[in-house]
Amino acid sequence: MQIVSYPHPALRWKSKPIKRIDADLKQLIRSMFDLMYVTNGIGLAANQLALPHRFFIMNATGSAAESAAELVFLNPEIVRRKGSAESEEGCLSLPGLYGQVRRAERVVINAFDLEGQEFELELNDLEARVVQHENDHLDGVLFFDRMTETARRELEPRLADFEVQFRRQQASGAIPSDEDLQRALQSLEPDSVPTA
Ligand code: ZN
Repeated sequence: MQIVSYPHPALRWKSKPIKRIDADLKQLIRSMFDLMYVTNGIGLAANQLALPHRFFIMNATGSAAESAAELVFLNPEIVRRKGSAESEEGCLSLPGLYGQVRRAERVVINAFDLEGQEFELELNDLEARVVQHENDHLDGVLFFDRMTETARRELEPRLADFEVQFRRQQASGAIPSDEDLQRALQSLEPDSVPTA
């Protein structure tokens, strides 16, 4: 399991709802937490593993020892947003890139946990920011899409570097073509019909 980098097409994919909670999903989520900790992340969305599924995980402490702070959000929906705050964000799919993003200061999020129980959480500050960032991933939205035009323009040379790097890996065959990656995403969607 590997975190994909920008501009992998999975990062622009609109994820499909989870229909079944099974042992495979639980195992996958356990592995995602482990991967998130070794990469020093505090949130990780399924898209970032090239999976077209509507869920993300979070541990705002970033510490594996604080497992009580682990949260899994299956089929999440942000039902309320309040206030506004600007702060710096980064993303495991754009390592080393940071920028100021304005987001709601407080959110209410509705989701299902791994037991299939629906829950609603009111979150503030960092946790509110993380769930907005991760929820955006599920819609194929990246944090720099939310930045001001001026701030984004400053990041553009770095984004171009990511692009060059990615295309180079595709040219060398280390990463499949966009078409093949998109086909792979489609085949992982629930109810996907295999095509010849
Ligand atoms: Zn991210």
